[in-house]
Amino acid sequence: MAELAALGLERKAAAAHAQLAAALARHGRLVYSNSLGAEAMVLTDIIATQLPEIDMFSIDTGRLYEETHELLEKLQRRYRRAIRVVYPDAAALERLVARQGVNGFYHSLEARLECCRIRKVEPFKRAIAGYDGWITGLRREQSAARAAAEAVEWDAEHGLYKVSPLLEWTEAEVWQYIRARRLPYNPLHDRQFPSIGCAPCTRAIQPAVHARDSTGREPPRRPLVVGATGDA
Ligand code: SF4
Repeated sequence: MAELAALGLERKAAAAHAQLAAALARHGRLVYSNSLGAEAMVLTDIIATQLPEIDMFSIDTGRLYEETHELLEKLQRRYRRAIRVVYPDAAALERLVARQGVNGFYHSLEARLECCRIRKVEPFKRAIAGYDGWITGLRREQSAARAAAEAVEWDAEHGLYKVSPLLEWTEAEVWQYIRARRLPYNPLHDRQFPSIGCAPCTRAIQPAVHARDSTGREPPRRPLVVGATGDA
């Protein structure tokens, strides 16, 4: 990949590939929890073109932006490779909406947590069940907690390994890779959305605000979101 070599990213991409290949050899079946964010474009490209043994899924919470659905379709077409779309349990979702209303998550922290549990956390647990490891696009510079992460660590909460091959990548390198490989990405990133989840709970940021504010400050008038299910 001459375009990556020119940017000095070839070695970094090769290291990410090597980490994934080693995790496959050591731990068995791996699945990538694809958040469809910027880091996900890099990992999708590496996995879809070089590591067909790794399965991929993405969670459709039912509240995603249309831009996210369009991106998912572009990825499916580009790679001719299925990214399994996982949905919340329909009956649980119906009960949730009957209890708290269609936008109940705006009204309390408990309502938000319950909404995230049904729309994100439960589908994530279902999607990784039976695998030996799951893959994330976390990067060290995203937050203090992520700075201390290991490339491969035991995820005691879910009972399998967690593999993070992009830990050492900077945000600039992620975007260099996307541009060099002419990858599709969510156009909302061009409108100051650093990570893109559910539409009601995602906002653009001011340039001075860190994408992952480690102080835990909550964005104004927007719900707190829970459930780290990828790199978003
Ligand atoms: S991010 Fe918001 S809409 Fe999405 S599951 Fe959580 S509370 Fe619900």
